[in-house]
Amino acid sequence: MDLSYTADEEAFRSRVRSFLDENCPAKGFGEMSLEEGRAWQQRLFRAGLLGAAWPKEHGGAGLTEMEQAILNEEFARANAPGVPGQMGIWWVGPAILKHGTAEQKETWVSQILSGEHIWATGYSEPAAGSDMFNTQTRAEPDGDHYVVNGQKVWTTLAHLSNWFFCLVRVPQENPKSKYDGLTVLLIEMNSPGLEVKPIRQITGGSEFNEVFMTDVRVPISHRLGAEGEGWKIISGALVNERSGIASGMRFEQSLHKLVGIAKRRQKVQDPIWRQRIADLAISTAISKYSGYRSTSDGIAGRLNPHLSAAMKLHGTTLSQNFSSTISALLGAYGQLYQSHAEVPEARQVSERLLGERAMTIAGGTSEIQKNIVAERILGLPRR
Ligand SMILES: Cc1cc2nc3c(=O)[nH]c(=O)nc-3n(C[C@H](O)[C@H](O)[C@H](O)COP(=O)(O)OP(=O)(O)OC[C@H]3O[C@@H](n4cnc5c(N)ncnc54)[C@H](O)[C@@H]3O)c2cc1C
Repeated sequence: MDLSYTADEEAFRSRVRSFLDENCPAKGFGEMSLEEGRAWQQRLFRAGLLGAAWPKEHGGAGLTEMEQAILNEEFARANAPGVPGQMGIWWVGPAILKHGTAEQKETWVSQILSGEHIWATGYSEPAAGSDMFNTQTRAEPDGDHYVVNGQKVWTTLAHLSNWFFCLVRVPQENPKSKYDGLTVLLIEMNSPGLEVKPIRQITGGSEFNEVFMTDVRVPISHRLGAEGEGWKIISGALVNERSGIASGMRFEQSLHKLVGIAKRRQKVQDPIWRQRIADLAISTAISKYSGYRSTSDGIAGRLNPHLSAAMKLHGTTLSQNFSSTISALLGAYGQLYQSHAEVPEARQVSERLLGERAMTIAGGTSEIQKNIVAERILGLPRR
């Protein structure tokens, strides 16, 4: 693979860098209000830096794989925050572009990038997490509508969203397989009968929710793909979700921070800490080169959808290892949930340590990623 950049790519990098120098908010994603987050998203959209691979006619930036990789690197360098419409950008928009009718693309796609529409994702239910085939939410046809009844759970940002990318089951007379009837509906969050209840998290925040649907009427024209195509659509969306989670990780910055704290706490000569730091540095390099490999596969058109499972598994585990190592380095200060004169980063470190427990669960648990790696990448026999 060629790791050098062309003159055009270098010019693109300079453009992105100066844009971020002038526009990047000082606050992290979690510290911004919805309005601030939307304003940031709109600035990126107007600068043509969102929806990298989306066609220009739908507001996309129409960037190459390499430009997308440069964009990711520059965002990491500037520590740029995410945007509220991230889920829509990572997987809802691509799913509508792939499976939607011309009218659906016209209605939804460009509003995703502009931040006008914020999407939540409704797959998980109390008895259907890893096992999505157990989806119980029912959508019964009634004239030109479906009537939807059921409950979703762990629905990230549902309280801020205006649209819902929702997996339901349309009852079948004689279902032949567990896939039968699984269907994706695009539901307006303010539909009568749809209620959102926040769930309090271990960090004290409430980013996810339960969503209850009672006789919610959804126009049949809001169905994505055909009835029964739900699993095909969702499995593609999950690949995009896992790639998105993996590509959002910023390990070189974590390593830099870790080494800084180790120096400050006079641990860099200690062989045990040196070994732990070296292990993390090696894993960081593995992550970086896997990212290059994935970019190179994309440029060469070598489709490897299951690499996202391996990268999500590696990335989320590594991220947790960084937070537990940094917390341990801080000693007793690592237990604080507030800033302290001695350790200004204490609050941030504790928040990250607790918050990241969730990342080996979100988007499919580590065990599920291991099953995918074993069966689809390594070709081991199925259970
Ligand atoms: C931060 C966060 C955000 C989320 N956001 C959303 C969202 O926006 N929308 C949404 O729909 N969902 C969301 N989820 C839910 C997430 O997708 C589920 O939690 C996840 O798929 C696991 O499902 P579950 O919690 O029901 O656990 P279960 O599926 O019940 O799993 C319990 C345990 O059993 C293990 N297990 C299950 N099946 C297997 C198997 N076949 N082989 C080996 N081990 C297995 C699991 O690994 C896990 O350890 C989010 C979760 C988190 C943590």
